[in-house]
Amino acid sequence: MQSLHLILGDQLSPNISSLQDCDASKDVVMLAEVVSEATYVKHHKQKLVLVFSAMRHFADELRDSGYTVHYTTLADDDNTGSLRGEVERVAKELDTKRIVVTKPSEYRVLKDIDGWEEVLNVEVDMREDTRWLCSIDEFDEWAKGRKSLRMEHFYREMRRKTGWLMEGLKPAGGKWNYDAQNRKSLPKSIRIPERKRFEPDSVTQEVIGLVEDRFADHFGDLDSFGWAVTRTDALQVLDDFVENYLTRYGDFQDALKRGNPFLFHSTLSAYINIGLLSPKEACERVLDAYNQGNAPLAAVEGFVRQILGWREFMRGVYWAKMPEYEKSNFFSADGHLPDLYWTADTELVCMQQALESTREHAYAHHIQRLMVTGNFALLAGISPSEIEEWYLAVYIDAYEWVELPNTHGMALFADGGVLSTKPYAASGSYINRMSDYCSTCKFNPRSRTGEDACPFNYLYWNFMIGNEDLLRSNPRMGLTYSNMDRISQDERSEIVQQADEFLSSIGVS
Ligand SMILES: Cc1cc2nc3c(=O)[nH]c(=O)nc-3n(C[C@H](O)[C@H](O)[C@H](O)COP(=O)(O)OP(=O)(O)OC[C@H]3O[C@@H](n4cnc5c(N)ncnc54)[C@H](O)[C@@H]3O)c2cc1C
Ligand code: SF4
Repeated sequence: MQSLHLILGDQLSPNISSLQDCDASKDVVMLAEVVSEATYVKHHKQKLVLVFSAMRHFADELRDSGYTVHYTTLADDDNTGSLRGEVERVAKELDTKRIVVTKPSEYRVLKDIDGWEEVLNVEVDMREDTRWLCSIDEFDEWAKGRKSLRMEHFYREMRRKTGWLMEGLKPAGGKWNYDAQNRKSLPKSIRIPERKRFEPDSVTQEVIGLVEDRFADHFGDLDSFGWAVTRTDALQVLDDFVENYLTRYGDFQDALKRGNPFLFHSTLSAYINIGLLSPKEACERVLDAYNQGNAPLAAVEGFVRQILGWREFMRGVYWAKMPEYEKSNFFSADGHLPDLYWTADTELVCMQQALESTREHAYAHHIQRLMVTGNFALLAGISPSEIEEWYLAVYIDAYEWVELPNTHGMALFADGGVLSTKPYAASGSYINRMSDYCSTCKFNPRSRTGEDACPFNYLYWNFMIGNEDLLRSNPRMGLTYSNMDRISQDERSEIVQQADEFLSSIGVS
């Protein structure tokens, strides 16, 4: 029987399980650009260009390898606009009753595909996504019976399983985690190599035109588009990272610098998340550099921890906890997302830097997402669903399986501690220590109240005051609350009033 092998937009890997037994002499591979996937949130224009252009290039590569490919572009007249509509249309056209697909990465898509056998009257052969380093079953087995899920414990298991950075049963260098060495601020003298860009080829240019035309009201600039759209180019980004950035990746992982959102980060999430690179090959390339003596242990361990640890862990938590996960709201936060998240029109230099880079590149690095825009949303009491929709819309690498646990769990603590022991709340002092932002900001990171006070400071204490019932008993918050006890009642009232006025002036409350 002929089969229709469906490849989703984040499954652009030649070794994807849905292609495993695809018989090029009779089966058909299908890819479809559909408006429903482009608009379930209004994705950044650069993300749409990346995914559609990478899909078109991938389809060409499959054709070159001998596959018959059915490709629907967004502009095709008979495009039904949804994944299900396209599968139904193409299956009818080919008179085929068998669909092969790799399990989607997002719950929303899985629920849809789960109904296809009945609604479309076809057989659906849904296969595990074997690109992960830890399967969903394996994660569930690890999580079973644990009171709390901690990345560090999971990560150690994964190190043992892969044998990466292991010396027998012990971690290389004697320590599992070199995070403490990854928190340096950036000296002025350090040179940051220029980021590699890829000039859009004719395929990408056509997609840019399509996106400008069809999604003009979506967020983001397109002029600066320079992302790789093929596996070959994504491999160049990986090489470039290992050769030019990796040695300093560890030291300056948490640093923030005006005018440079990329610093020594890899920018690889965009490619790994759509399948142009595999997490395994990214880690192995970095481990090779370590084994050849070309990269320090702290940097290599830091990178491996992000992928083997955080990336796999977040995906495991997502599938273990969905769909209930997104509904929790530990702090009952119900503030509105202020317009400044879209316009970057703000006097807070740290926010303005993260938001401008988000608009210009569809990118902000982890500490900008966590400790600037995420921290602000936490302290300001923005409703989890509003800020989560924003994170899902604005980043080149945004997919719910990774965006949701990072935002809901890590940045907002809206899950009440499923994946971290305490909220990542911080005042302006943290941002001042890690960045060069504050020296050019009109606010003073050392003032708690008053006209020049840094908003992160009074929002921080306002958050601690407002959530005392929920947080004081947390053993990891002891120091914060003993510091708060030293703030006079008069100053606390001032803090609350200044925070209220500020939040209402920007449209949160
Ligand atoms: C609020 C918030 C939202 C986020 N949303 C996303 C998202 O939608 N998509 C996404 O891929 N990442 C997300 N992250 C995680 C992280 O910020 C990005 O993976 C990282 O900034 C991507 O840039 P990079 O490739 O240069 O990362 P690098 O610093 O170079 O890290 C290397 C790789 O490790 C992985 N990684 C690092 N941190 C994490 C993490 N916390 N969770 C999962 N993988 C990680 C990524 O694959 C990344 O490419 C979010 C983090 C926060 C705090
Ligand atoms: S002073 Fe406050 S608002 Fe200004 S950049 Fe520093 S942390 Fe941000």
